[in-house]
This record gives sequence, structure tokens and C-alpha cells, in this order.
Amino acid sequence: MKCAKCDEKAIIKIPYANIALCKIHFSEWLEHRFERIIKKYHMLDGIERVGVAVSGGKDSTTLLHLMYKLSKIYGFELVGINIDLGIDMGKAYSTKSSEFAVKNFEMLGVKYKVIRIKDEYGFTIDEAKKKIKRPVCSTCGLVKRYTLNDIAEREGLDAIATGHNLNDMAQFVLSGYFSGDVLDLSRLKPVSQPEKGYKVKKIKPLFLIYEKEILTYAIINRIPFLYDSCPHTFRVGGATQDKIRRKLEELEDEIPGFMMMLVQNFVDKIQGPLEKEYVKEEDISRCKICGRPTSKGREICSFCAARISMGVLNEAR
Ligand code: SF4
Ligand code: ZN
Ligand code: ZN
Repeated sequence: MKCAKCDEKAIIKIPYANIALCKIHFSEWLEHRFERIIKKYHMLDGIERVGVAVSGGKDSTTLLHLMYKLSKIYGFELVGINIDLGIDMGKAYSTKSSEFAVKNFEMLGVKYKVIRIKDEYGFTIDEAKKKIKRPVCSTCGLVKRYTLNDIAEREGLDAIATGHNLNDMAQFVLSGYFSGDVLDLSRLKPVSQPEKGYKVKKIKPLFLIYEKEILTYAIINRIPFLYDSCPHTFRVGGATQDKIRRKLEELEDEIPGFMMMLVQNFVDKIQGPLEKEYVKEEDISRCKICGRPTSKGREICSFCAARISMGVLNEAR
């Protein structure tokens, strides 16, 4: 199989675009696509300082490299962020994940911050799993959201980019329909305006790029990344989520471009009306412990409440 643009051997076939490309032309094609998505969804309009959340996996490290290239063209500042969540489970997952993130930050010479939640907030996700009676990923999501908002305020960031890819987004859309979770679906978008009380917007620049394309880009461009998945992943949503993901991949094989149509149509045509219907402007209160925004009428934010349950914070503080 030859590249559609030169005489070299093609290394990837892109069925929905009906082309096959060599290493160089695939990298160019993906970088171009990445830039077009960012422009189409106005992700970086008016942005001067962007944080990239890097877990060390293929998606976030590739995102960092692609954002780095764009920062050289458009002149915005980049800050790498890694959160050491304290996930070990006998596999040293967080330690390895931070090592890979730092390797990439240093390779590119990007300014960066590693936030170790044990040092910063007094507990790890593994400890929270044992002590807090809610799914570990829900606590982890809360911790990540809080930490990213906090670092964004401290670092004066205008936006934070995360590495959600097209397969993740397609899975969120289908799971949302399946469970009828309209509020989650209403908030599922590639550019989220700042949460009430914060100034940073969240962007998902890889949301229309397939996982396979990201993996191929990472490998051919020799981006160092951690292959391991979080050891808690297999407990998230269990077999149903796995099946939804696999079925989507099967549909993609039969109908090339299926996931892209599903996500693009959702984002462009369905999410907006859902948001109008279901997301209401809420007033906020300030947490009496950390001073960060929380729902109206609540004295303590969910994050400080989690710290109290972990016994690392005194309510009377
Ligand atoms: Fe956190 Fe769950 Fe993701 Fe692991 S799988 S990083 S616990 S959200
Ligand atoms: Zn070529
Ligand atoms: Zn708080």
C-alpha cells in the first residue's frame, strides 16, 4: 500500500477519509486536522496561557506535543500539569505516570508543575477508595477537577486542555443515552466555559481524533508514554462500559466514520438545545474552609467534605 501523497510505503489507512499515508504525511495530516479543530471550535481565541493536563498516557502526551507545536506558531504560553494521584495498587501507577509526564515536559523544555495530592491535600486516591463510600473514580474526578481549577487560578491560566479522544467522547455520548443522564449529556462539549466562580475554560482539542490515530502519531514521533492503564480502570462502570466501547469500535469497522458522525452531530446539533433545557445558572456560595466556589447554600465544598471524611481536615478549621 502506497502513500496517497508520495511514493513511500503507507503506514496507516484512514478508511473514513479513504486515504493511506506514510509516516511524514500522516503526521502532517494529523497536525493539520488538530489545528483545524481548534480553530473551528474557537478553542484558543483570546487565550494567552494554556495548561495541558498530562497523565503520561498516549493521549495527553500527544496532546502536549501537538499543543507545543501550535504554541510556537501562535505564541501562547504553555504550562504542563501532572497530578500525582497516589495510585499504586502494587503497580506504582502514579509514580510511573508522573515520570513519563516530566520526561515529556523536559524533552520539550515546557514549564511544568507536578501536584502530589498526598503532599498538597493529605490523602491519596488509593486511601480514599478504602475510606470514602463512593466509587473511586467519582472521588478521583472531584480531586482532579478541584486541583486543576486551583492550579489554574494560582498560575493565571486562561484554559486547560485535556486529552479526551474521539473514542472516549463516543463512549460518553452512547453511555449518556443509555443511562438517560441528560445533565451529563448537556455538559458534554469540547469547550466548557469557566465553572461559576472560576476564570479558566476547559478544552478537549483531541475530541474528534481517533484513539488509533493518536497512538500511531505517538509511536512514529517517538513520544515517550506510559502504556499501563490506571489499575482502577477495570472497575469503572464494569462490563457494560467495556461492551459499549467495543461495540462502537465494531460499528466503526463496518461504517467508517461512525464515531465521528455520532460525536460531531451530538456536539454541533444536540448538545446546545440540551444545555438550554437542562443547565440552569446557579448562584454560588464560598466554602468556609478553602474559600473556593460551592453550590448555593452549602457551607463546605465537596472537596473539603471529602478531606474531612478522610480525617485530614478539621471541620472547625
Ligand atoms: Fe482516576 Fe478512575 Fe481514571 Fe483511575 S480510572 S485515574 S481512579 S478516574
Ligand atoms: Zn507520503
Ligand atoms: Zn472547600
